[in-house]
Amino acid sequence: MEILSAQEQQHPVSSVPHWVAPVKTKPTLSIVVPIYNEAENIPQLYTRLTAALTTLGHSYEIIAIDDGSHDRSFNLLRELALGDPILRVVRFRRNFGQTAAFAAGFVRAQGQVVITLDADLQNDPVDIPLLLAKLDEGYDVVSGWRERRHDPFWNRRLPSLLANRLISFVTSVHLHDYGCSLKAYRSAVVKDIQLYGELHRFIPAIASWQGVAVGEIPVSHAPRRFGKSKYGIGRTLRVVLDLVTVRFLLSYATRPMQIFGSIGLLSSFLGASLGFYLAYVRLILQQSVGDRPLLLLAVLLIVLGVQFLGMGLLGELITRVYYEGRNKPIYVVREEINNNSDYSVER
Ligand code: UDP
Ligand code: MG
Repeated sequence: MEILSAQEQQHPVSSVPHWVAPVKTKPTLSIVVPIYNEAENIPQLYTRLTAALTTLGHSYEIIAIDDGSHDRSFNLLRELALGDPILRVVRFRRNFGQTAAFAAGFVRAQGQVVITLDADLQNDPVDIPLLLAKLDEGYDVVSGWRERRHDPFWNRRLPSLLANRLISFVTSVHLHDYGCSLKAYRSAVVKDIQLYGELHRFIPAIASWQGVAVGEIPVSHAPRRFGKSKYGIGRTLRVVLDLVTVRFLLSYATRPMQIFGSIGLLSSFLGASLGFYLAYVRLILQQSVGDRPLLLLAVLLIVLGVQFLGMGLLGELITRVYYEGRNKPIYVVREEINNNSDYSVER
């Protein structure tokens, strides 16, 4: 009997009995597709993906994550997977969101290149070779850009335009279209990133912290034919909040005391100066200061300053727990030569 890899033992693909799966070598490409109530789209998605991928000549796997669908999505996926071991299906217990679905796919992906796309046929699998060609030019992440986007203007395209400008500005990673799911990553990039909230769209920005090269190519985009979009205008706000987190993670996550501490010191210094001035007015000039708004400001600044310093210290503690608890280094290695301590050199 075939011995399962450690990864598969941890995450058994329930629908495909392991003794059926003839997959012996690791595939080159891993396609990750999040699926939430996309039953009408699944058959065509599968045919189009298979058609596009088989002509490519690379070995591949498709990892479909059923994000707690209420429709027939999972049943359809199971049927397809029983007839095709290349299709791996993960079923969430409930709807955890697109980011969680991507994260589940990334952990399971075995390929050297991971490609993500939406299940609703708005992305076209025919564009996959274009992404791969761009990766070959030396990029580590290639993001699709829906140049001619077929979504409603006021509640989707306009907010998205503004959000893309804002994200590019704040993260200094300039992409036209952060929201496009059709992206290709070298596997190491996604394996190194922990995803929370709606962070999946920020992977290129977070990855840039690792020093990877991020590229972009125009891809086609079709209107949604079946099913409904799962998002409305409310997403924009969540994205903006996540942006604050990302900005913080990118610049200060390893040195919280430097940012909170500086604000704290500045505030305390201003507060103390005001305090000294008021003391001078009271003690030397012998005037009353009890009813001066400045006194309140001085107290406020000092209290805030102490708070900020305390937050910086807490941040430092938390950072240590974060990095040390998970053995997560504060750097990313590109490659190592002759640095494998596990083997001894024989001459
Ligand atoms: N999706 C998901 N979980 C969710 C919401 C969406 O897995 O909670 C999937 C959905 O099935 C689709 C993709 O994420 O494959 C993008 O969703 P949608 O098309 O609704 O987003 P839009 O294209 O409108 O931004
Ligand atoms: Mg869509």
